Amino acid sequence: MKIKILGTRGEIEESSRYHKNHSGILVDNQLLLDLGEKAFLKYRPKWIFITHLHPDHAYFVRRKKEEQPSTQAQIYAPELPLVKSSVRILDKQIAVGGYTIIPIPTHHSKLVKSQAYLIKKGKQSFLYTGDLVWINKEFHPLFDHVDLVITEASFIRKGGMIRRDEKTHEIFGHNGVPNLIDLFKKYTKNILFVHFGSWFYQNPKAAKKKLMEMGKEKEVRALVGYDGQEIEISKLKKV
Ligand SMILES: [Zn+2]
Ligand SMILES: [Zn+2]
Repeated sequence: MKIKILGTRGEIEESSRYHKNHSGILVDNQLLLDLGEKAFLKYRPKWIFITHLHPDHAYFVRRKKEEQPSTQAQIYAPELPLVKSSVRILDKQIAVGGYTIIPIPTHHSKLVKSQAYLIKKGKQSFLYTGDLVWINKEFHPLFDHVDLVITEASFIRKGGMIRRDEKTHEIFGHNGVPNLIDLFKKYTKNILFVHFGSWFYQNPKAAKKKLMEMGKEKEVRALVGYDGQEIEISKLKKV
């Protein structure tokens, strides 16, 4: 599989040349994960899988009916948007065009449902988490030995920004990079970070170095995403 990272900016105002667009990951020019920018439709994906209905992952959620995506693609999401559109709910695995797509429930927001996607084709596989606090243990075996995990880097500090609902005790927000590395390093050799928070933009060069060093310390390859980056899954190191 050939992956193209279309956007690496989190839900913030800051941007830099290489981290300008909101979330989007294009697979083999035909499958798109998250639709953070309307402009991503120009790639003419056949299928679009959205992790959750926040505007930096689904540009259209707070927009009028006229601004809903006009595309031939079938769009899937964990739940239906409020404004009527052609989005369908995906709550179990499906096979399209030689890919198997497995939605995995995640903890991220109190208000919207969220899910990661495990994408498999032949012997290759990767996991894209979207925004993340945690994935329940019962789902971890699904992504054991994936070639790559693509996850978020809203917060570099340990613990990120996690809150807990007083009534339901549900956790929500974003976990920190160190915690996400600890979560995924058991299951993969390669972790690619996207969705950068404001900490990253003060000095992107230093931030990149910090992420890579943090990976080294924890014995995993930390890759730093940028808009337009291309990755061939078969060329990733397995050890
Ligand atoms: Zn986000
Ligand atoms: Zn979000």
